[in-house]
Amino acid sequence: MAQHQIVIVGGGTAGITVAARLRNADPTLDIALIEPSDKHYYQPLWTLVGGGIFRPEVSGREEASVIPRGVKWIKDAVATFQPHENQLTTRDGQTIAYDYLIVAPGIQINWDKVQGLKESVGKDGVCSNYSINTVGSTWKFIRELKEGTALFTQPAGAVKCGGAPQKICYLAEDHFRRSGIRDRINVIFTAAGPRLFAVEEYREVLEQVAARKGVDTRFRHNLTEIRPESKEAIYRHMDTDEEIVIKYDMIHVTPPMGAPDFVANSELAGEGGWVDVDKYTLRHNRFANVFSLGDASSLPTSKTGAAIRKQAPVLVENLLSVIHDRPLTAQYDGYTSCPVVTGYDSLVLAEFNYEGRPAETFPFDQAQERFSMFLLKKFGLPALYWHGMLKGRV
Ligand SMILES: Cc1cc2nc3c(=O)[nH]c(=O)nc-3n(C[C@H](O)[C@H](O)[C@H](O)COP(=O)(O)OP(=O)(O)OC[C@H]3O[C@@H](n4cnc5c(N)ncnc54)[C@H](O)[C@@H]3O)c2cc1C
Repeated sequence: MAQHQIVIVGGGTAGITVAARLRNADPTLDIALIEPSDKHYYQPLWTLVGGGIFRPEVSGREEASVIPRGVKWIKDAVATFQPHENQLTTRDGQTIAYDYLIVAPGIQINWDKVQGLKESVGKDGVCSNYSINTVGSTWKFIRELKEGTALFTQPAGAVKCGGAPQKICYLAEDHFRRSGIRDRINVIFTAAGPRLFAVEEYREVLEQVAARKGVDTRFRHNLTEIRPESKEAIYRHMDTDEEIVIKYDMIHVTPPMGAPDFVANSELAGEGGWVDVDKYTLRHNRFANVFSLGDASSLPTSKTGAAIRKQAPVLVENLLSVIHDRPLTAQYDGYTSCPVVTGYDSLVLAEFNYEGRPAETFPFDQAQERFSMFLLKKFGLPALYWHGMLKGRV
């Protein structure tokens, strides 16, 4: 049986960032990272890929190139956890023991929860930015649409980056306008929730953006089925349970998401199936040698890479304190950020904390749409990600 001092589950944004920070802090640590994929993707770029600004390949790197030197890569997937025995089992049947465990396998995309979606996505006007395999179809269907209805959805429950479903709607609207065909296209944005954005300051601005663009917003609409033959989207109204049918010519679906099944079915899970950690220290509420961060964690903040940038240093400091028998002092304040693209040259950089209060980086009103912030998203943040965050530097 393999044994490592620290085992990290998931080599995505969170797993790699934490591995790099731990190595930087102490190169003598024995760290293994369990990750099944050959490729790592900078998913925030998929919004711009869907809008035709970048090609899908630009968002990816070889997984081997982002794993920090000195960290052992176990190319396998975790199947079950045995936290009372300080060990886990992989899909290939390996048992791996650990002194400390960091759980960061991200969020699970539940394509199956919308009937007909799995079969139709990528074809006949049905697209989604939420997978490297389907993000290319978004730009294809936006570009090909010359008239009719362009429909954009947001499901019930947590999704990666709460503003992302809207971003592609605004980019598509801007594309139709710039192509001179906006008056021939009905742009509809549906959400299962009651409003466009959770934080008041940014919600007001985004409502104005949607109104200015003539986007028809419909709330409490939860997509349950796609009928590709008749090009119909079937919804359940969240309050009345009534069935609503909207005809589309293209539809961008944000699929339902949830905690990964292997986490939800384990003893590490808390409410909703997420890894049950303390919202300030990121340490597990029942297993003292287990930590979690990122999309798979129970942290009650918006699930973004930007949030992980602030979670990772807290987790690393607290884990090192546990290893050296010191009290845990680092605290995460719930910071998250969502750069809401509102067109091909504008962006609202929402940044806020657990209290839902803006926690802004720049010395100007970030609730305003700005070209400079669009440039930050397009060029600045990807560079910061590959060269700073994944190296454990920022
Ligand atoms: C369209 C879109 C737009 C977004 N926009 C933004 C944005 O503008 N700003 C922002 O900050 N964030 C944005 N995000 C969100 C951001 O990408 C995620 O929050 C972030 O990647 C989460 O990191 P993570 O490490 O928790 O999960 P991931 O980066 O998804 O990594 C999880 C890793 O775990 C691995 N894994 C899964 N199951 C297992 C298993 N059983 N065993 C071992 N490994 C496993 C996976 O292969 C994967 O590599 C966006 C995401 C999308 C899809």
